[in-house]
Amino acid sequence: MKTIGLIGGMSWESTKLYYELINQKVKEELGGHHSAKCILYSVDFEEVKELQFAGKWGEATEMLVEVAVKLQKAGADFIVLCTNTMHISADAIQQNIDIPFLHIADATAYKIKADSRAAIGLLGTNFTMEEDFYKGGLSSKHGIKVIIPEEEDRKDVHRIIYEELCLGEVKEASKEIFKGIIRRLIEQGAEGIILGCTEITLLIKPGDVDIPLYDTTKIHAVYAVEQALKD
Ligand code: GLU
Repeated sequence: MKTIGLIGGMSWESTKLYYELINQKVKEELGGHHSAKCILYSVDFEEVKELQFAGKWGEATEMLVEVAVKLQKAGADFIVLCTNTMHISADAIQQNIDIPFLHIADATAYKIKADSRAAIGLLGTNFTMEEDFYKGGLSSKHGIKVIIPEEEDRKDVHRIIYEELCLGEVKEASKEIFKGIIRRLIEQGAEGIILGCTEITLLIKPGDVDIPLYDTTKIHAVYAVEQALKD
C-alpha cells in the first residue's frame, strides 16, 4: 500500500471526513484490521483564509508548496489537497514535487464522464465558482459544460461555506437555501451537481435533492485509496 500525503485543515471539519472516508475505503477493500497509510499536515485555516480574502494567492501557494515538499520528504507517495478552492495552487505544487498530485477536479470529472453527464452545476466558494482554475479544467480538459449559480445565489453559497460550514455549523435554513439554488441550476440544464467545496457534504445529502450529487470530498478520498492500492 502506498502512503497518502494529505494537506488538510481547510477546514478541519472536512479533513476529518477525508481521514474517515480513506480508512473506511481501505477497510472495505482489504478487510480485517487494515487501515490507510497516510501522513496529514494540517494547516491553520485562519492564516489561509486571510490570504484568500486579501487576494494574496501567491503567498497562500507558497505555504502549500512548502507543506507538499515536507510531506514528500516525510515519505508520502502522492499528494491529496483536501479542499477545492486551494487547487488554485495545484500547478505550482505539482511543479515543486517529484511525486504525483491527485487533482480533485480530475477525480470528479472521471466520475461525471463515467455517468455520461454533459452539463453539470457547480457549487463552491466564489473563488471556485468564478475563477477559471477549476471550471476551466472541467470544460477544456474533460469536455464538461459547467453551470454556476446567479450572482445572488453565489453570494449565499460563499457566505454559508465560510460563516457556517467551515465552522462546523449546519443549519436547516441554509439547507433550504441550497435546495433552492440547486433547483435553479436544474432549470438551467444541470444534469448533476458538483459539491465543489469539501464542507457542502455536511449540509446536502443525496436524498435532499432529485438529481445526482458529485461529492468531491468522497470522490477524492476514494480516488486516493484506489491510487494507494494500485500496484
Ligand atoms: N474546503 C472548501 C473547499 O473545498 C473551502 C475552504 C477553502 O477555502 O479552502 O473549497
